[in-house]
Amino acid sequence: MKTLIIENIDPKKIGELMTVSQKFCEIPDIIALGDGPVPGKFGKVWQTPKTVAANLISSVVNIIQEEKYEIILMSVSTLGTGLAGPLSATLSAPVVTEVTAIHPDRVVERPIYGGKAMIKQKLESTPAILTIRRKYFEPATLDGTTASTPLSLDADKVRLVAEKNEQADGIPLEDAAVIVSGGRGVGDKDSFALLQAMADQLNGAVGASRGAVDEGWASPTRQIGQTGKIVAPDVYFAVGISGASQHLAGIANSKCVVAINKDAEANIFNRARFGLVCDYKKILPLLTEAVKEKR
Ligand SMILES: Cc1cc2nc3c(=O)[nH]c(=O)nc-3n(C[C@H](O)[C@H](O)[C@H](O)COP(=O)(O)OP(=O)(O)OC[C@H]3O[C@@H](n4cnc5c(N)ncnc54)[C@H](O)[C@@H]3O)c2cc1C
Repeated sequence: MKTLIIENIDPKKIGELMTVSQKFCEIPDIIALGDGPVPGKFGKVWQTPKTVAANLISSVVNIIQEEKYEIILMSVSTLGTGLAGPLSATLSAPVVTEVTAIHPDRVVERPIYGGKAMIKQKLESTPAILTIRRKYFEPATLDGTTASTPLSLDADKVRLVAEKNEQADGIPLEDAAVIVSGGRGVGDKDSFALLQAMADQLNGAVGASRGAVDEGWASPTRQIGQTGKIVAPDVYFAVGISGASQHLAGIANSKCVVAINKDAEANIFNRARFGLVCDYKKILPLLTEAVKEKR
């Protein structure tokens, strides 16, 4: 099926979408946003400096119609989410958001009810627009680069004045292999130092539940869950977190969850591979010390 990727120039994001595209076609085309070479081997490549979704819609619609693309792939991101709706409305095309798996015969899978259930949907008509959740697909290796032609934007409705990256203190949550996350059960802001000490030993990052963010103990940029970051670390420590569905929605793709909670009935234990029923203040410093000794 003829496939078009629309993505900012970022090897990881483009690599993940390349992996997804291989379920539909051999070599996809791409509209790449940003400066510098476009990594990977593509058929056709259009390139434009970074801009907001509103400025891209009519140009992208023209390309999709002229080239008769059947599948349009974007990441779940400000760009992808901003484009998916208008493209769907303008092209009268179906859109499936937050896709986490592609099955044979044009069947795609996505979470529903805040991650409590998964749904499989068949793409019955084309073009079909898919936004793909980050970290669910292993990024393809992008060999070489492909020459691009400039994408002319026929309207500059919104001017991008400045783009400011979020202040990341330490490893970004999305890239961390280990996350030590704290909830309301941590008790106060200062005690997050115990979680930071553990994270430092494991080259990990500190995350938080909304409970902890609402208390003002952690920055909203550290929130994990339905209305926070979606993470997929190798190991996720949930410290004093009850395991509400909205929190679990953010850690669904974590490989190993270790829960520390003093309530044996806490829902987090239903998601955890390892569970410690105790006051985290007693066990976490011991775990940190044990990890330190092993290093
Ligand atoms: C629309 C919507 C979106 C939401 N989005 C998110 C989201 O993105 N992320 C998110 O996290 N939540 C989200 N929530 C909130 C969510 O429903 C929960 O309220 C929140 O996750 C609870 O946070 P918590 O587990 O830290 O706190 P609590 O539910 O209060 O749990 C605290 C836990 O700590 C344990 N505990 C207490 N003391 C200790 C101790 N000394 N040692 C060990 N354990 C201890 C307790 O047993 C308890 O299980 C959302 C809610 C709504 C309605």
